[in-house]
Order: sequence, then C-alpha cells, then structure tokens
Amino acid sequence: MRADTFAVHAGREDLVALGVHVPPIDLSSTYPITDLDAGGAAYETLAMGGRGEDAATLVYQRLWNPNVDRLERALARLEGTEEAVAFASGMAALTATLISCVAAGTPHIVAVRPLYGGSDHVLATGLLGTEVTWATPTTIGDAITDRTGLVLVETPANPTLDLVDIAAVVAQAGRVPVMVDNTFATPILQQPRRQGATLVLHSATKFIGGHGDLLGGLVAASPEWAVRLRQVRALTGALLYPLAAYDLHRGLQTLPVRVRAQQDNAIALAGWLAEHPAVEKVHYPGMPGADPAGLLGRQLAGPGAVLAVAMRGGFDAAADLVQRTRLVTHAVSLGGVDSLIQHPASLTHRPVAAEAKPHPNVLRISVGLEDVRDIIADFDQAFAAVAERELVGAGRL
Ligand SMILES: *Cc1c(COP(=O)(O)O)cnc(C)c1O
Repeated sequence: MRADTFAVHAGREDLVALGVHVPPIDLSSTYPITDLDAGGAAYETLAMGGRGEDAATLVYQRLWNPNVDRLERALARLEGTEEAVAFASGMAALTATLISCVAAGTPHIVAVRPLYGGSDHVLATGLLGTEVTWATPTTIGDAITDRTGLVLVETPANPTLDLVDIAAVVAQAGRVPVMVDNTFATPILQQPRRQGATLVLHSATKFIGGHGDLLGGLVAASPEWAVRLRQVRALTGALLYPLAAYDLHRGLQTLPVRVRAQQDNAIALAGWLAEHPAVEKVHYPGMPGADPAGLLGRQLAGPGAVLAVAMRGGFDAAADLVQRTRLVTHAVSLGGVDSLIQHPASLTHRPVAAEAKPHPNVLRISVGLEDVRDIIADFDQAFAAVAERELVGAGRL
C-alpha cells in the first residue's frame, strides 16, 4: 500500500471489529481500577514509557490515551518509522527530546540554522539545560563531542526554505542521532528516516491539522526513543489533548491531497512573484539556483506550499504589504487551507540572534487551497497599493 492509502486507513485497522466507522473518542481523565495489584503494575508500566496494550488499565489520561495512540500509529506509518509520540504542541515535542538528551548525560546539541524561531530560542537560552553549538551542514562533524546528544536540522527551513542534505548530515553525525524538523515538507513530500535520520519532528499544528484550529506536535522514532519520549511526556504532562488527536488523525486523511493542491498553487504563485518588479527574490525550492545539491526529486518529492519573498523596497515595503492583502490573512502559522502572510524578523523569528535573523525585507507566505487566480489577484492589488504609497512618499504622486 502507498502513502495516500495509509493516510486514509492507518490507525483505524480495528474499527470494523469494533463495529464503528470512525474512531470512538475517549476523553476519560481517569479509569476505574478493578484490581489494585494490576492497577499498580499498569501505572508502573505506563509511567516508565510502556504501551497501553501492555497495561491492564490505562489508569490516568496523562499516561496514555487511545485517540493519541491511533494518531501516532498513523503518523509512524506515513513516516516509515516503527513508532511515533504525540505532544501538546511542536515545542512540547522538541522540549521532551531535549530533556531526554539532558537526562541521558548528553546535553550538548549541534544545530544548523535557520530553524523555527521557537526552536532557535529554546536552544539559545539554554532554558532546558542544553548547550548549543551552531554549525553549518559541513561543520557538524567538527562540532560533535562525547557529550553531544542530538543533531537538529530543519529542511526545508523556516523561513528561507533552505534545503539541507539529510544523508550528508547523518554521515557527519556518526553515532549521534539526527532529528529532522519535517513540518514544512510533511511525510507526503519527505521521509527523513529514509535518509537515515533517527527522529522526525512535526508541528502538527501546521499541515497535519491543516485547518488552523488546534495545536499538536509529533516525534516519529524507533521503539527505544519512543519509550524515552513517552516517559518524559507522562512525567511532565505534555500529552496531546484527545480531541485534538482525533482531529489530527482526521487531518491526516486529506493531508496528501491538501499538500499537492496547495503545492500546485504555491508553484504558480512563486512563478508570478518572481516576475514582479517589486520582488527582489523568491525563496522556494523550485526556483532556479535554490537547490545546488539536487535534493528536489531525490530527498524532497516537491517544493511544498510555503515560500518566502524578499521585497526590493526593504523593510518598509514588506511591512506595508502585509497590511494590504485582503484575502490572504496577516498572521503567523502555516500549512492550513487558507493563505497566510507574516514578517518573520518581527514575529516568528523575533527572538533569533541578530546574526541569524531573517532579513527585514523577507515575508513568509503559506499558500492555501483558494483558487490561485484569486490569491494572485490579491497580491496584485496589494503590490499596487504599496507602489502607490512609495510614489506618494517620494513626492512623485
Ligand atoms: C510552528 C513550528 C514549530 C513549533 O510548533 P508549535 O506547534 O507551534 O509548538 C516547530 N517547527 C516548525 C518548523 C514550525 O513551523
């Protein structure tokens, strides 16, 4: 079976036997204990990161939830990993991974910029007891010490859509596990496990949810890592809310068609933007020169539905444009059915150190499912309004 089929059916294998068509939702915060010894043993199993099927009772929602389990099994199927662990948000998922590294006595993290602003921030502050070395894709090997617990990369990266060769990173990392943030590509376009990554991170808030109405995070991993991550999740209370798990599991069913349709729109918009006189550069994996290593088609099946645009008029033009779109909403986040635009240097990447902050003329656009002619028409009128303001400002109108 192929990805589109897994997307629809994975995590639902038992429904016919249960006599239902969609997964029942279990919102229990606690579960009746019928036998104290068995209940105690179940508590111990789950609090140590064990699985629900190995426990006589689920005891308490923070330890295990059936809807979360269904989502995890479906995502693991799509990513080609044995297991996955779901969290209350993407940042909760990254946090659990970092805490696990600290607990194992390997608190040193090697990370490649650019990363999502929140990931950059949590590493730069050292809030969780980690120490970070910022590396480039070619200096990872030199940065690794015997205290290194993780190499973290993002590809395509937020917000400039830079591509990183995952197999090359894995080769340099040696014994150190590599985590790839796969939020932008989704498992439909890229499965980092195939290139040897140990851990795959998702902000499920974005494409997997797809409708801008929930937060969630996932780590696709081996069984050994899943146990470690579930233990941190149980002890720190980072479980995904079961109703959100239900919606994310449903979101996975349409993920392949949404990603492909949004990508088609993004390709058309990127081509139009690249020709526009107000645009200095379009950052998008499909653009000429954007992929010197030839990763498109080899590691990444398509350029995706997020792009960034550098404005010729600098910060002023960028700050003006985000106020002028009408159909496209000025808001952070990405991957949903509606198009969004935002200014990374002011918002999502605000906490990033000056030397790594996105250029102030850059805007990030998440392309939705609207008719692309309407998206382009909206940018056309917004660019015209910006040009008129510039002329007025220069006293030429
Ligand atoms: C949004 C995002 C995150 C953080 O996820 P949340 O669900 O907002 O906590 C991490 N990585 C990337 C690439 C993101 O876009």
